[in-house]
Amino acid sequence: RFITFEGGEGSGKSTQIRILAERLQAAKLRAIVTREPGGSPGAEIIRHLVLSGVGKLLGADAETLLFAAARDDHVHAVIKPALEQGIWVLCDRFADSTRVYQGQLGNVLPGVLNAMERVTIGDLKPDLTVILDVPVEVGLQRAAARRGSGAPDRFEAEDIAFHRKLRDAYRAIAASDPQRCVVIDADADLDTVAARVWAALHDRVLT
Ligand code: C5P
Repeated sequence: RFITFEGGEGSGKSTQIRILAERLQAAKLRAIVTREPGGSPGAEIIRHLVLSGVGKLLGADAETLLFAAARDDHVHAVIKPALEQGIWVLCDRFADSTRVYQGQLGNVLPGVLNAMERVTIGDLKPDLTVILDVPVEVGLQRAAARRGSGAPDRFEAEDIAFHRKLRDAYRAIAASDPQRCVVIDADADLDTVAARVWAALHDRVLT
């Protein structure tokens, strides 16, 4: 089974993935946790490049090609081999991140994204995509606290606008593909959110 997690900054993806992996392993199911950009040795090098801000030197399409190169390697080196062995793959971000960050927020055209998906993903589709949804201010507070910068009382209008667009874009994806996507209210404590994720998995994938 292939489960992807999506959400904005401070939505709690990595924590929830870890909790879910532990639950699956406790149920004697084999599961791996991986992430994008990255997840394979080659793709992790590209992750380093894209997170270092190399995108500022490149056009948006060229930067998106780097994300696509990382995904291509990750899919072929890690995700598909694991799925073929019956291992659950829990992935922190996947193609929806590209649709949202490069597409909706970066203005890369859908035709370009479609072409890249054809090459990198083909017909591989997540069995479930968990979209962790938090109010913009909550996500920004959590992210600031994690960075250790202390959560400010007010955030830049630019940041708020960016994250609002991000949240709307994820919700639009969920609305357009309700079979695959579930939006989880992640504005709650860890255990409550984990229970919601488990319930969604139970309803959609385990039954
Ligand atoms: O989820 P994580 O914190 O690992 O993501 C790192 C950052 O990479 C995100 O905050 C986002 O800005 C960026 N990213 C992106 N496009 C993607 C995936 C991630 O810009 N397709």
